[in-house]
This record gives sequence, C-alpha cells and structure tokens, in this order.
Amino acid sequence: TLDIPATTDAVLTADTHLIQSWADLDALKQNGARTVIVGAKGTRVRDSDGRELIDGIGGLWCVNVGHGRREIIEAITTQLETLDFYSTFYNFTHPAAAALAEKLAALAPGSLNKVHFGNSGSVANETAVRMLHHYNNRLGRPQKKRILSRIGAYHGSTHLAIAMTTPGYSKGWDAARELVHHLRCPHHWREGAGMTEAEFLDALAEDLTATIAFYGAETIAAFIAEPIMGAGGVITAPAGYHARMAAICRAHEIKYISDEVVTSFGRLGHFFASQDVFGVEPDIITTARGLTSGYQPLSATIISDEIHEVISGPGGAFLHGMTYSGHPAAAAAGLANIALMEAEQIPERVRVTGKRFEAALRGLIDLDLVGEVRGSHFMIGIEFVRDKAAGAPFAEEAKIGMKVAAAAQKRGLIARPLGNILILAPTLVLSEAEIDEVAGILREAITEVQ
Ligand code: PLP
Repeated sequence: TLDIPATTDAVLTADTHLIQSWADLDALKQNGARTVIVGAKGTRVRDSDGRELIDGIGGLWCVNVGHGRREIIEAITTQLETLDFYSTFYNFTHPAAAALAEKLAALAPGSLNKVHFGNSGSVANETAVRMLHHYNNRLGRPQKKRILSRIGAYHGSTHLAIAMTTPGYSKGWDAARELVHHLRCPHHWREGAGMTEAEFLDALAEDLTATIAFYGAETIAAFIAEPIMGAGGVITAPAGYHARMAAICRAHEIKYISDEVVTSFGRLGHFFASQDVFGVEPDIITTARGLTSGYQPLSATIISDEIHEVISGPGGAFLHGMTYSGHPAAAAAGLANIALMEAEQIPERVRVTGKRFEAALRGLIDLDLVGEVRGSHFMIGIEFVRDKAAGAPFAEEAKIGMKVAAAAQKRGLIARPLGNILILAPTLVLSEAEIDEVAGILREAITEVQ
C-alpha cells in the first residue's frame, strides 16, 4: 500500500476553477467526472477514492524513473536551500544549469554540444525554430524560414508549436501555419496501402524531394520530426526513414530537428534515440519530460556547434530566453534523474524489459477489436478497428479508445485514449509481473468492449 494522504474536499472544490488542459471543456461541463490523483509511488498512483492504479502513461509519458524517488526529491530540496532561484539571463549563471548543460552535451550525439533550457516541450521546439531563423538571418538568407513537419506530428501547444503539429489542431492559427508545410504521415499500415514498406519509404522520400522543389530549398529552414510520433498515435516510420529524410535535408542545407520530448531518457532504451536507435545525427535535439522524469518542468534545445557558432557570432545578438530557463531546482532534478538512470542502468534495462512490454502488448493482436499494435519498448499504441479483415476504422463518435481506457481503469490501469487508439507509455521501472498484469488487464478490458 502506498503511504499517501487521502484527498481533501479543498482539492475537489478548487478543481471547479481549474481549466483542464487538452479537454473538451463543454463536455466536461456536461459530465464533470474527473479522475483526481492524490499521490504516487513507484509504478502506481492513488486516486481520491483510495484506489491504486498502475500508471500506464507515466504521468504524461514522463515519469521515467518512477514516482517518489528520494534521490531526486532530495536534490531539489538541497538545491532550493542553497540557491532557490537565479536566472540565466544576461551574464548570470549558476552551477546546476551549467552542470546539466555539460552533462547533456556529453550524452547527446556528435557535435550537439550547446544547450538552451526552457520549461516545456513546446518552448523547446519554438526555441529551435527561433534559433534557426536567426541562423539564416545571420547567414544573409532571411527568406529561409519555412518548416517542414508531418501529418500526425505533435510538437506542442504554443502558437508555432501547434502550427507544426498535425494540421487538424491548428485551424484558426493561420499566421503561424503559413510557415509550416506538412509532409505525408509515415504510417505504413494506414497510409501505404498496396505498397511494400520499401516502396512506401520511396514515396515518402519523393514527397520530401517534391516539396523542396516546389517551395525551393532557399525558403526552407528545417524539417522537424519525432523519432516515433507520440501523441499522433505512436506511429513508427518504415525502417531507414529518418536516415533517408536526413540525407535529403542535408543535401539541401535544411536543418534536421529531432523532437525527442518523448523518445529520450530511456523510453526506447537509450538516452537519445535519434542516433542510437535511428542512425541519425540531427542538427538540433529538443527534449523535456524524461529529462527530469517530470519532477520539475524543464526542457532543453540542444544544438550543434556549427549552429551555435553562427548565432553567437558578432553583429546582432540572439535575444531569447524565459525567466525560468534552467531554473536551479529543475536543473538539480535533471542532474539527479540522470545520475539515477546511470546508476541503475535504466536505459540498458529498458532494452530488456521494454522489449518484454512490447511483446506482451503485441500479443493482444489476436483480439478481434485490435487492428494494429505498434511502437517500441515502453511507447506503445493499440489501434482498434470495426472490421479487422478490412482494417476498417471506427467512426470518431464510437469513442472506442475511451471505452477501453475506462474498462482498464476499472481494473486498475491508467491508459490514454486517443480516438480509436489506446496509448501506453508507463514508467520505465515496471517489474516483469507488472508487465504481465498490464497485458492481462488490457486483454480483459478490450474483451469487455468488443
Ligand atoms: N513534442 C512532443 C513530441 C510531445 O509529445 C509534446 C507533448 O506532448 C511536446 C513536444 C510538447 O511538450 P509540452 O507539453 O511540454 O509543451
């Protein structure tokens, strides 16, 4: 049992003033049911009814080392007692931010050695684009500003980040949308009908090449891609996709931004997935979430020496930063989190346990409702279909993901519904028994709904 206090009425009362994120606020007004999480330890959380639930989404794809780790909590407390806050503006700095930047430079691939901190994945991506716009201005090519993203992508909620996200979410944000072109979604099962995976990859490369020819490389600053699309439904691209896209980009002097907000810090068995899993050395990596395992809000934009050289050159400063960029408590949390991951060899262990998790969930493919189980290690999506043989999708209104998630929650597991898809991105410290428990709960929940 977890040693966590029960809920208080104050939490529930305050909740009526809280605007929920990424929620249909109107639907919430009609049916105000909320899951109130009051505490957490290890792989589990406790709700306000006192029920313990396996945290199948790691808070929100972020509590990689598990909940309640003393090492991180103590590092944050010690840091606050020593230096509660100072900024990294102007010429001020402090040891925690400097040490974490040094650590990230050591962990990141190749020449990615310079780090700017923010406090969310959205901000990390906006920072990356602002840096590249400044970079191109400095190089005397101010028209090189367009961003290539992909249908199905998720890059955040701020104005530009939502414009880089899959088009459906950015209706009404036309100014930022003009900067962005969305390439084809690289999901073979849904988008590559009648093609082998290799042929589909050729088609995706052709789409990129044709898009560059259409706009002109001189107008395109960057290509941004998640190694595995997360919030778009855990979509993996065909083998060799990232390296192929990166090579085309490089040939046209288009920078490659790898959005590793979800895929880094052990989720796929490595600190960063870009190079170690997908064989690409990006020009910029953005990360957040697992960087502190969610114990403090922190993101990082890690850039190559070459980009840094240009944006830090003389004649026109790159003026950018948020008050809390590199907040001491967040930086201390990041350092303690990485130290813990290294001491416990969490990325290495995920290469075994994550594969076991993936295999256990792939085993659900025999159920009629399950059309595809995809993803890798501790990042899995299950797509439900109305007609398995035809792969026919349910109408959005069927809310199948929500029904399965509710059935799973009733049985003690939190999973995240997304239309006809259910997403699992748990803490990375699930035991073998818990992995089997998750698969068992999902089997029962899906069977109940189908
Ligand atoms: N990039 C990716 C790949 C994400 O999954 C997310 C959040 O879901 C973001 C960026 C935005 O991060 P944040 O919510 O911290 O702004």
